[in-house]
Amino acid sequence: MSKLDSLVASTRQTLELIAREYTPAVFASSLAAEDMVLTDLILKAKLPIGIFSLETGRLHKETLAMLDRVKDHYGYDIALYRPQPEAVEQYVAQNGLNAFYDSVDMRKECCRIRKVEPLGRALAGNKAWITGQRRAQSNTRGSLQVHEDDPGHLMDKFNPLADWSEEDVWEYLRANDVPTNALHDQGFPSIGCEPCTRAIQPGEDVRAGRWWWENPESKECGLHVVDGKLIRIKSVAA
Ligand code: SF4
Repeated sequence: MSKLDSLVASTRQTLELIAREYTPAVFASSLAAEDMVLTDLILKAKLPIGIFSLETGRLHKETLAMLDRVKDHYGYDIALYRPQPEAVEQYVAQNGLNAFYDSVDMRKECCRIRKVEPLGRALAGNKAWITGQRRAQSNTRGSLQVHEDDPGHLMDKFNPLADWSEEDVWEYLRANDVPTNALHDQGFPSIGCEPCTRAIQPGEDVRAGRWWWENPESKECGLHVVDGKLIRIKSVAA
């Protein structure tokens, strides 16, 4: 059995376990490469796992186009969760549209409004959630486990691709003719909101294009547990 076959088999087993023992469960997709591997595995197996995306209002058009491409390819509508309009309006009125460049706190407050709060709504009522995170993606994900406790959301969290490499992901996507975000062909290995994501140079860390103006240690959006601890979002007002 090839390395990829073995990874796919164990990932299928993880997804089947979630479908069997953790229903209702949901998969949070950013519509990037890793998430398309999981989308393909979940939808082809018709597993009872809902797929959603956080539509922050600041995504690239190429990322938004993936919603239609998934619909065309799999006949599946990814559920969208958006920020509360009043919270966005207040942040923009008080701080400006792009205040996230001013400080880590301002950036985390924007992520809290546009991602963390909608994520809480998307996860409510579920037993477990799934991400496409991989251990090799950055120094904040080195201890990522396939199955973790998520004390912040009081549920189990699964990272079925924790053991996959970048090469494994792309080998799977090509072999299975999976639709992929056009930004990946333009030097974006990791994709987030448009103003907070840039293309990277050959040899740079795959997460180097996310919040590139910050220290590597700050580069998470508060949605995940790192080194066993939930990353807390500091309120600007606190
Ligand atoms: S990634 Fe940037 S634009 Fe998106 S929610 Fe976070 S700070 Fe705001």
